[in-house]
Amino acid sequence: MSQKRDYYEILGVPKNADEAEIKKAYRKMALKYHPDKNPGDSEAEEKFKEAAEAYEVLSNSEKRAQYDRFGHAGMGQGGFGGGMNMDDIFSQFGDIFGSAFGGGGSFGGSRGGSRVVKGTNLRVKMKLTLEEIATGVKKKIKVNKLVNAEGITFKNCQTCNGSGRITRVAQTFLGAMQTQSTCHVCQGAGKMIDKKPADADAQGLKRQEDVIEIDIPAGVDEGIQLSFQGKGNAGPFNGVAGDLIVQIEEAEHPELRRDGDNVHYDAVINFADAVLGDSIEVPTISGKAKIKIDPGTQSGKVLRLRGKGLPSLQGYSTGDQFVHINIYTPTKLSKEERELVEKLKTSENFIPGADAKSKGFFGRMRDMFS
Ligand SMILES: [Zn+2]
Repeated sequence: MSQKRDYYEILGVPKNADEAEIKKAYRKMALKYHPDKNPGDSEAEEKFKEAAEAYEVLSNSEKRAQYDRFGHAGMGQGGFGGGMNMDDIFSQFGDIFGSAFGGGGSFGGSRGGSRVVKGTNLRVKMKLTLEEIATGVKKKIKVNKLVNAEGITFKNCQTCNGSGRITRVAQTFLGAMQTQSTCHVCQGAGKMIDKKPADADAQGLKRQEDVIEIDIPAGVDEGIQLSFQGKGNAGPFNGVAGDLIVQIEEAEHPELRRDGDNVHYDAVINFADAVLGDSIEVPTISGKAKIKIDPGTQSGKVLRLRGKGLPSLQGYSTGDQFVHINIYTPTKLSKEERELVEKLKTSENFIPGADAKSKGFFGRMRDMFS
């Protein structure tokens, strides 16, 4: 897959551009690269689609915030990767160009002025384990969604005569003035239902259980929302489907703590191993790992396992795992053990020396302020 261009760069606007600036920039691009103006020019068509995709994201505050945080990866796999078809693009035009372009004329392409009505978005929450987040995962979601009923026949909307728009002529002192608005009966689709099965509603939709398969990219985080274009509710009058919005929740891991792309683990080792050195097994997201404990390891030491954290959502880097060493102090001793410890207590090398002090809390505070 080729690297996608930055949406702000495509529209030629700064990152802090406001809504009006974005709209203006897109309008300019859409006019320049419109297929009707560039017949047979596939490069212009690509530019036209690219600009529409950028506008689709940047004009929606929710999608824009997600894009600002996570880049293209935050848009969800299959979310926008050329996923917009010409109908989707033209359906934006009512908002962009106003009624002047929406009805008739060359704008609107082959659909003759009426617009494709978009279905509503479906929202679901999804709980993922740290292991699933680390690798990315395919999930099947059972949803109850609106689908297009079968066996429906349409006829032209009688209110707008199939144009999707209602034109009113008002007499003013300047002469006759025309105003246009979206038809309230068909919502601009220009169609209405002729014949439909009993289970379909007035827009030709019915509810149905459906299983949707989605790819969750690796590195997602609690609270992030992924949008999967066209996987939401079907559009009225055979329009385009809405999006599926998946809100991610992260299940607590029994042993590992996540901090951004890094993970932390508290290891408890026994006193003898801390003194003599050993190798211990620790859990990681990708299974057990062996780490070496050096002889003379102090309590509070942190060991780093490079690359054992989580991949970033953009896929540029991978975090690390930090293993925090704690030394276990036994609380019950046999008579024999007690005698051994008593002996150690007064032994020369068991009295905390200067190196131990410098690594203690007060030692670290001294380092900080000196
Ligand atoms: Zn109508």
